[in-house]
Amino acid sequence: MLDGLEVEEGKEREDFAGFKIRPRLIVYPKNEEEIVRVVNYARDNKIPIVTYGAGTSLSGHLQCEGCILLDMKYMNQIIEINDIDWYTRVQPAVNLEKLNSELNKKGFFLPPDPASYFLCSVGGATANASGGMRGVKYGTFRDWVLALKVVLPNGKIVKIGEPLRKNRGGYDLLHLFVGSEGTLGIITEIWLRIIPLPQRKTYTIISYVNDIEEAGQLIYLIRRNGIIPEIAEFIDGEVIRALNRELNAGLSEKGGAFIISVEEDYLPKLQTLLENKEYIITEGEEAERIYSIRAQSAIALKAETKLMYVEDIVVPVSRIIDAIKRIKEIEKKYNIRMPIIAHIGDGNLHPNIMLDDPSKAQIIFDEVARVAIELGGSVSGEHGIGVQKARVLAEQIISHNGREVLKIMKGIKDLIDPEDIMNPNKFVELAYKLSELDESTIPR
Ligand SMILES: Cc1cc2nc3c(=O)[nH]c(=O)nc-3n(C[C@H](O)[C@H](O)[C@H](O)COP(=O)(O)OP(=O)(O)OC[C@H]3O[C@@H](n4cnc5c(N)ncnc54)[C@H](O)[C@@H]3O)c2cc1C
Repeated sequence: MLDGLEVEEGKEREDFAGFKIRPRLIVYPKNEEEIVRVVNYARDNKIPIVTYGAGTSLSGHLQCEGCILLDMKYMNQIIEINDIDWYTRVQPAVNLEKLNSELNKKGFFLPPDPASYFLCSVGGATANASGGMRGVKYGTFRDWVLALKVVLPNGKIVKIGEPLRKNRGGYDLLHLFVGSEGTLGIITEIWLRIIPLPQRKTYTIISYVNDIEEAGQLIYLIRRNGIIPEIAEFIDGEVIRALNRELNAGLSEKGGAFIISVEEDYLPKLQTLLENKEYIITEGEEAERIYSIRAQSAIALKAETKLMYVEDIVVPVSRIIDAIKRIKEIEKKYNIRMPIIAHIGDGNLHPNIMLDDPSKAQIIFDEVARVAIELGGSVSGEHGIGVQKARVLAEQIISHNGREVLKIMKGIKDLIDPEDIMNPNKFVELAYKLSELDESTIPR
């Protein structure tokens, strides 16, 4: 049935976060027709399919036992860059950094920039609705995907959405698939909105602060003063030290660094807000270096620990300081290291739980996620749910939206994937199951 396809006996892999992928087969499709054959085979034989982009997801999205791993690496072509309609059309395995360098040559760019931009695939970032450092100004992949081609679990190929800036054609299926973590189908083509490269000069300012609370205060001031940053990031002292050790980053070893890029018009106002603080203004190559160092923060931390559980909570910007205080209490209570990397400008915090004992790490992980739920935030701003956040996702949906909403979501999965072959037992499906099994932990 899979004759003629490139198939390998399942070798074990690990994703970036250390979740195990133990497939029975790995298939490397070269086109949609081959994917359809794999899907039909999997459905007939009731074998789960897990689609693999670049393996950088952080929440156990790819974890599997005995699945068919569909490694998309050959479907890596940039099909079109349309400089009048301002979109690009790509195959899913295109590397995000490579895509942007091709777009830049034509004077365009695609803004969402997960800090893994140099590693991740556009398909993975689409299936994960990834955000990133520029999210504070430009949002996430959700805001940039215009249309998709998808192989559904029934083996049919559909096109969803249109490469148009405006489109009121029916229910918004497009945004159902963006961020669906490979649980509804296999994305084979993506149309993404692009925009011209910014014309105004930008500056990147690095301001050393005593702690994240001080960075939170700065963000409040920046918001009140109507400054729209290109990026507004925070790394704490422990992250700085890891970056200096691992990458020779040359950063001052203070309590933390607040990194903000602004267009030139905002600079005078920003400098007024930074009065009495230690800061350095950079541009050009040095600004790019700081951006790239920030992007590698998680890699530097990971190099120094066996296991790292990466939180991805998001809270309303006005509650950042409340969230930070609560996180610090948890860190103290368990007497652990939990260095923080944050897209602080949009309230998205990544405390990194460094512990060798996974059972304890998950308890702490859930406790931090509940801080976001209680403050009116979300357990995931951009990394997604996978298996790791399924329980707290159920808690969030039930307490913020009601059990009925979780039921609707489960109903969508059942409708599109009745045989339950697409990345089963994760995301919404697992959240739903956990909410049924262990009612006591789920608030009503
Ligand atoms: C160092 C580092 C920094 C990071 N920083 C950020 C950040 O700032 N912001 C952020 O949002 N994320 C960040 N991430 C995590 C982020 O989610 C991933 O980097 C990226 O979105 C996943 O891309 P990938 O190609 O590796 O996908 P994978 O990890 O391979 O897959 C991710 C999910 O998408 C599914 N999938 C992949 N391809 C397809 C397809 N063609 N069709 C259907 N489903 C598919 C998979 O089944 C899986 O569920 C970071 C990760 C690392 C390692």
